[in-house]
Amino acid sequence: MTGSRGNDKGKIIYDPVTIKNMKIIIIPNPILTRKSKSIINFNLKLSNFCQNLVKTLLNAKNPPGIGLAAPQVGKNWRIFAITLPDEKPQIFINPKIIYHSKEKKYFKTENRQPFLEGCLSIPKIYGTVKRWPKIKVVWQNEKGEKQQADFNNLKAIVFQHEYDHLEGILFTQRVIEQKGQLYEEKNGIMEKLIEN
Ligand SMILES: [Zn+2]
Repeated sequence: MTGSRGNDKGKIIYDPVTIKNMKIIIIPNPILTRKSKSIINFNLKLSNFCQNLVKTLLNAKNPPGIGLAAPQVGKNWRIFAITLPDEKPQIFINPKIIYHSKEKKYFKTENRQPFLEGCLSIPKIYGTVKRWPKIKVVWQNEKGEKQQADFNNLKAIVFQHEYDHLEGILFTQRVIEQKGQLYEEKNGIMEKLIEN
């Protein structure tokens, strides 16, 4: 994607034709376990990167992704994108969790099964992870403006999964620390990887 500064108002004009898919890196890759750096320059390069990150997330189809962090496309930058059904994709820059509910819990799906987390960088592997069900977060948008929101349930979980990526922590590490259950998907069936 290319962009140029518009005339008097400093409005950024995008050329959607050049938005491109980025390559999602998978384990093992040291970028995925490194702590990412904060963003200080809110410029056109950053806007382009954010647009591409969202595009790459939306194009991840098999399986579909609901979150994608910058390290997963090779940049140790504190940025991630979240896209949930019925919501506009959202970009989080320099995110922080400023409050969380007391206990981490397993999230249950609508049919009361434990929710299985997966990751576009760890193909075919899923697992149960305890997360805070409620969080209050702050972040900056692409213009550098400060934002704040309360998230719960699935959005809180995705946010914590993506936030962990910025700290170089993968969900599989959480599963192991918490003695949760890891599964490998084989032909649509979840097979237990380790017995705890
Ligand atoms: Zn992930």
